[in-house]
Amino acid sequence: MLRQYELVERVLGYDPDADEALLNRAYVYTVQKHGTQLRASGDPYFSHPVEVAGLMTDLQLDQETIITALLHDTVEDTLATIEDIENNFGTEVAQLVDGVTKLSKIEAMPEDERAAENLRKFLLAMSEDIRVLLVKLADRLHNMRTLHFIKSPEKRQRIARETMDIYAPLAERVGMYEYMREMQLLAFEQLEPEAYTTITKRLEELRSQDGGQVDAIALTIKQALAEAGLRVEVSGREKHPYSIWHKMAERHVSFEQVSDIWAFRVICNTVDDCYRAMGVLHTTWQFLPGRFKDYISTPKSNGYRSLHTTLMYQNSMRVEVQIRTSEMHQRNEFGLAAHWAYKQGDRPDGQVGWLRDLIEIVDAAHDAEELLEHTRMAIYQDRIFAFTPKGGLFQLPKGASAVDFAFAVHTDLGAQTVGAKINGRHMPLRTPLNNGDVVEIIKGKNAEPQLSWLSFVVTGKARAAIRRAVRMKERAEVAEIGEKLFEDIAARVPARIGKKAVRDALKRLEMDDEDDLMFAIGAAKLTDREVMEALVPGCTAELDDDADWTQRDRTISIRGLTAGVGFQLAECCHPVPGDRIVGLRRQNERVEVHAIDCLELASGIDADWLDLSWGKRSQGAVGRLNVTLYDRPGTLAEMAGIFAQNIANVKSLDQVEADHPFTTYAVDLEVQDLAHLARILSALRASDAVAQAERI
Ligand code: MN
Repeated sequence: MLRQYELVERVLGYDPDADEALLNRAYVYTVQKHGTQLRASGDPYFSHPVEVAGLMTDLQLDQETIITALLHDTVEDTLATIEDIENNFGTEVAQLVDGVTKLSKIEAMPEDERAAENLRKFLLAMSEDIRVLLVKLADRLHNMRTLHFIKSPEKRQRIARETMDIYAPLAERVGMYEYMREMQLLAFEQLEPEAYTTITKRLEELRSQDGGQVDAIALTIKQALAEAGLRVEVSGREKHPYSIWHKMAERHVSFEQVSDIWAFRVICNTVDDCYRAMGVLHTTWQFLPGRFKDYISTPKSNGYRSLHTTLMYQNSMRVEVQIRTSEMHQRNEFGLAAHWAYKQGDRPDGQVGWLRDLIEIVDAAHDAEELLEHTRMAIYQDRIFAFTPKGGLFQLPKGASAVDFAFAVHTDLGAQTVGAKINGRHMPLRTPLNNGDVVEIIKGKNAEPQLSWLSFVVTGKARAAIRRAVRMKERAEVAEIGEKLFEDIAARVPARIGKKAVRDALKRLEMDDEDDLMFAIGAAKLTDREVMEALVPGCTAELDDDADWTQRDRTISIRGLTAGVGFQLAECCHPVPGDRIVGLRRQNERVEVHAIDCLELASGIDADWLDLSWGKRSQGAVGRLNVTLYDRPGTLAEMAGIFAQNIANVKSLDQVEADHPFTTYAVDLEVQDLAHLARILSALRASDAVAQAERI
């Protein structure tokens, strides 16, 4: 185990400005907090965080990360609190430790609870700061190194499976290949012990047979390059058993058939030398054309840069060769960690920039076929990640819009949305978001969710919230109409209507509150008569039958019909007195009265035509209007006011189209005659609430 002074010296070795006292304090803190706790190995528990901190110094990470590594298990496993850590080591360290602790809590859940949803949380927690992920990966690597001490085979299996499925792919995605390889190897040993033993044995046999062959090949390569005037370092290694096993499984071949057991690395001084070296190798040996890859001119998304090629050595043996500069090599093995240490000084875009790096890396589908296909990380492939301007991270389904984003942040924000800036530019709300977009929602005080948004939102949350808001708004406006109509009705009953009368009426109608009543009146779910009866039971029975409001349907008379023949006003054209009308008579049916210019008549109906005209009584015909209102609070109420002033009852009101900033309603209106309807139309057209009004 690393001693306290060794750890501190390591940090000072690459960062002379590091706070020595603070590092010492963190070391002592973790030793004290973990106290007499023991690891499965029998070592004192604090040896684990110290080793994890040691791994972090290998990557030359900043002192906050080293301290986080030292403290990473104190909140989860000891009496230490985040507040305590904040007081002693500052906010930054406290946040990092909190991030790691969150991950440990998810980890500790039983498998079935740790389903897809939790894995997403897992990624989100890690995404808060890239250093949380780095500490977590080192934590896992050390736990894997000491896995064999754990007695329960089930627990070992579970941890190994998790490492193979989640941590090794994550390490790969952030380009930490050293970590990935070691994790895979250790997990493989647990998960497939027989395969592991067999392959390891075969590799040993091979090594004893062909003693020194790796070195021999390395030397040959070096000589060939030296002859061309290139000074390089060449190293050879056996591929590790998991990688061989993976190839066997993938290609369905036996160990003997896996021909590329060895891999060689050529380290050059310059990029130029890399390409020259490749040229020399390709002219000295045969190469496999399909296996050549240039990750120097096109780096992998995790920053990995190298040339890859496979040579046929002595006509039978495949030899993999990777060519790179020493600087690339440094960066490649520790990926994002190296990148992080390197770029620490200049981060113009701050935290958001780092998160975007990570998300891009985690999301990029590079080498998917190689490894990730079979891992549970695939669940992220249908998700995108977007940021608030302050760096808050939200995950959404692919195709999500700024409106989905706004509702994901907060329902109230969604409701107040009037516009959006995506990556600083004004964009239409329906624009599908891309991974890593920074989305700024522009709010309006009197903004309301729009029905038209339903055509592009993809999240259930946004959809439900929009529907609810639109329904509420409609309901409120219909209730407003109802209130106006109610005043009329209340004036017609033979009693003063106070609060108590309304309460009693609600009871009779089995309604909960006044709003419900007003809505029912406004939506024509109750007739005037029903409302009057509820207010003053029995009051309508005493009223004169001739009163025009009681028997509207019978107050219309039509001339030209044989006495006693029933009729009905057609619902396609809604004729009102004043319109020129004709009747259609079919056998055993009532006569249908149509306006003469009704389109139905033009379609060649098989019926007798009757020439009709309006009689003296002409009360209660229903005219149908299309009224387009501006989407503003109160416009619907204003329309209702116009109907009330002109003494026209609303029979029904339906929203037929909502196309911001307009909403169109179909209104069925009881009118006396054409002149009455014309007056109402002109009143509507004169109102600045109305964009358009016409008879259908
Ligand atoms: Mn740990």
